Amino acid sequence: MFGSILKGLKFISGYQDECCPICRESFGFSSKYKCNDCRVEVCSDCKTKPRYLYKEIACRKCNTCSLTAMKTVVLVKSSHVGGHKITRKFGEIHSEFTGRNYDETTDNLKYQAIKMGANGIVELKNEKSTHSETTKSGGSYYFSMWTSTGIPVQLEKK
Ligand SMILES: [Zn+2]
Ligand SMILES: [Zn+2]
Repeated sequence: MFGSILKGLKFISGYQDECCPICRESFGFSSKYKCNDCRVEVCSDCKTKPRYLYKEIACRKCNTCSLTAMKTVVLVKSSHVGGHKITRKFGEIHSEFTGRNYDETTDNLKYQAIKMGANGIVELKNEKSTHSETTKSGGSYYFSMWTSTGIPVQLEKK
């Protein structure tokens, strides 16, 4: 009886008995953050907000793995990569968000490519479009947004 009242109180106050699966610290009263990749909930110290996910969260472990794999992705504008042959072609991908800079959207493409098992992106296209927002004073604020598209491929050295 007393135990259940205590549990109820803990629930109301936001107290959590569980530990963060990465650093093993108790969540206590602090917030949990769900990794976009492995879906595991981690503490604020173990969460990252990587550029390739825009506003989503990745846990520290997934972020390290993704960044390492993304470094190996070859990006080209043409349909072939010098010194390599394409052993597999996937369907076209596009950045899942429009970023305010080109690096965000190309990183997002690389991220999608590694998730598919690709190590290259051919026919890379980056498009810039202009958007506007109304400011508090009633004026207009113009800014650029980027969208990237490409074909993920598996490459092998010739
Ligand atoms: Zn942690
Ligand atoms: Zn994760």
